[in-house]
Amino acid sequence: MSLFDYFIPDPPLRCPACGRELKNWQGKEGPCFQLTWQQGIKFPVASDCELTPDSGTNQAGSNQDWEETLPATFLIYADGCACDRLVEAYGTCENEVWVHSEVVTHHNFQPGNTTSLKDERKIREQLKQWIEQRATDPDPEKNDTI
Ligand SMILES: [Zn+2]
Repeated sequence: MSLFDYFIPDPPLRCPACGRELKNWQGKEGPCFQLTWQQGIKFPVASDCELTPDSGTNQAGSNQDWEETLPATFLIYADGCACDRLVEAYGTCENEVWVHSEVVTHHNFQPGNTTSLKDERKIREQLKQWIEQRATDPDPEKNDTI
């Protein structure tokens, strides 16, 4: 059984290619206890329950047992936009609080320790193709949340 955590970027992230808002972010680089993390809040806002991102408000008193925090940087992923692929994003923490998120593109892609130079080039190229093919939509205003 593979465990992961749920993530709620705030403000929400949009797919860089089709512009749709992405929900149901998951990640395996936190504690992986099926916790729900919301950007801007140090401790998990929920644990192992049927929360949807829309109901992810912090109920004081219900999750005080969790003292886990997130790593300084971590990767999350989501699907469900108009593109037939997983969209990845980087989360960044300051003082153990998740403060920033950005969707992974060919501009900001960071290879992992095990990524060869050849793989890195290939991944960047695939990201570029995905984003630039879709970016022909005449909608220059869709980046207004950044
Ligand atoms: Zn998309």
